[in-house]
Amino acid sequence: MRQKAQQLLGGKCEGCGETDWIVLQVSHRIPVGRTDASRQPGGMTTYREVIRLSESGENPRILFGLFCANCHVKHTRRQFEAGQIGSASLAAKERRRARRN
Ligand SMILES: [Zn+2]
Repeated sequence: MRQKAQQLLGGKCEGCGETDWIVLQVSHRIPVGRTDASRQPGGMTTYREVIRLSESGENPRILFGLFCANCHVKHTRRQFEAGQIGSASLAAKERRRARRN
């Protein structure tokens, strides 16, 4: 499911072109109000959402981006610095990341 979702999003990092699915992560382009999906452990709901969008004829790339771990951190940090997401949201993301590592 994870690899299928990544293929639907182009199969490579939008930041640097990395194609190794192990480090690729799906990112919400619009952070507001989407925490219901991203809060799930492992983010599987996000992958399911990408596939569901695709199967219903929509382009999941409008809502989701694909980044490697490094670029995802930088992307999230830029959203935070641009004021698009609050510090609580960023803190939650970093707590999840810390638990995984
Ligand atoms: Zn990258």
